[in-house]
Amino acid sequence: MTEPSKNYVNGEWVASETGETAEVTNPANPSEVVATYQHSNENDAAAAVDAAVAAEDEWRNTPGPERGRILREAGTLLAQRKDELTEILIAEEGKARPEAAGEVQRAIDIFHYFSTKAADLGGARKGASGPNTNLYTRQEPVGVAALITPWNYPIAIPAWKLAPALAAGNTVVLKPASIAPGVVVEIARALDEAGLPDGVLNVVTGPGSSVGSEFIGNEGTDLVSFTGSSQVGEMVYEQATDAGKRVQTELGGKNPTLVADSADPAEAADIVANGGFGTTGQSCTACSRAIVHEDVYDDFVAELVDRAESLDVGPGTDHEMGPQVSESELSSTLEYIDIAEGEGATLVAGGGVPEGEEVETGHFVEPTVFTDVDSDMRIAQEEVFGPVVAVIEVSDFDEGLAVANDVDYGLSASVVTDDHTEANRFVDEAEAGVVKVNDKTTGLELHVPFGGFKRSSSETWREQGDAGLDFYTIEKTVYDN
Ligand code: NAD
Repeated sequence: MTEPSKNYVNGEWVASETGETAEVTNPANPSEVVATYQHSNENDAAAAVDAAVAAEDEWRNTPGPERGRILREAGTLLAQRKDELTEILIAEEGKARPEAAGEVQRAIDIFHYFSTKAADLGGARKGASGPNTNLYTRQEPVGVAALITPWNYPIAIPAWKLAPALAAGNTVVLKPASIAPGVVVEIARALDEAGLPDGVLNVVTGPGSSVGSEFIGNEGTDLVSFTGSSQVGEMVYEQATDAGKRVQTELGGKNPTLVADSADPAEAADIVANGGFGTTGQSCTACSRAIVHEDVYDDFVAELVDRAESLDVGPGTDHEMGPQVSESELSSTLEYIDIAEGEGATLVAGGGVPEGEEVETGHFVEPTVFTDVDSDMRIAQEEVFGPVVAVIEVSDFDEGLAVANDVDYGLSASVVTDDHTEANRFVDEAEAGVVKVNDKTTGLELHVPFGGFKRSSSETWREQGDAGLDFYTIEKTVYDN
């Protein structure tokens, strides 16, 4: 066991005033304590906000190219430590190695991407009506950004909030999810080594209800960017808007893949299995509903069951599908499996915990498929956040589209079809922030905007790409006579 990790506040590594720490255990082997972090409180959070406020002027006045240099250098340091970060991510969150390594690479790429944006924040020269007038707009930082992040992409999501926030000249307080904060601590270390001035980034670990809530309510913060569950996110949205903050929430999903009658059942099953069972179903964009035309239904179900049953489940170090992140996430998935059976859905694959020496102690669950699902069942309406796919049979494309949209969420949606007209209709009519044709619901490149419709997101702001910078900037119009 190593020493408890400290908070990063005003350029120093400091212990919480509570004197308490919290352990993180390995989801594949919960008796193994992987690391220990500060169990911080409101005062620790408030001290971090004070540091971020004090650092505001220095950072907003640091030239963009210099801000970019620091981000680039931090990205390079993370790249040099990629293997170590991947191990931390597997040990704390349980992801299968290729997924964990891919996520770390994404964080590195994000730092490099936004390093190039820092020097060139935008703004435009405008035509002036009078003589000798220089009329233009420019993008300025907003102030202090409070970032609150979930455990399921513990490095990529903090990176895609933090890099644009810093590139644009904001200072930051960041509360990572308590389940897997290790990779965020490493980001802070890299930025510190890259020369980030004291107080520009402050990382405090601890409960959302104290640290997160203080970040939102404290009058020193100007922006709140939250990713997490809809239940918590809707509370956060209200608290932040009541406090007059600019707020962005990225929340849950109930993402469909619509399989049309022209689809190849095997190809469609690959797409649904990758979207549904990848990252153990713990993606906000995971496919949790396959909506399938009756003509290909039986063949599709047989292929999907085959994919579910042949997946190699075990510790993320060397298996295809890792465990769920925690005991409570595992129990929640098992509870949804019971609920689905109680509602009359038919269990055709998985449904329990796998057996075997390697998986007997961890939070493992089998890839699970239900058929005979009706769109109004809870298994078809609520986010499960585990590797469970509900298959819904429909008799034509119109019905499929209606079912796809018949949920409160609207994050990602895909269609599998050989018919271009159907594909276009899906793109036009799917109520989702990300729409894909002949592809899985998960996965998005870093240069394109990401966000949802309906309960999946606060809709006003998008993350990633150039759109990701908008949230962290405010436009000023300048008349220079
Ligand atoms: P969560 O809502 O439980 O927690 C998210 C963060 O909020 C954590 O850091 C937590 O400590 C903090 N928090 C909890 N209570 C708080 C409070 N009262 N005030 C302030 N902060 C508080 O979510 P989770 O279980 O960590 O993550 C899984 C959820 O995240 C899923 O619903 C998933 O769909 C969603 N998610 C959405 C996206 C997206 O971009 N739309 C991406 C990834 C995950």
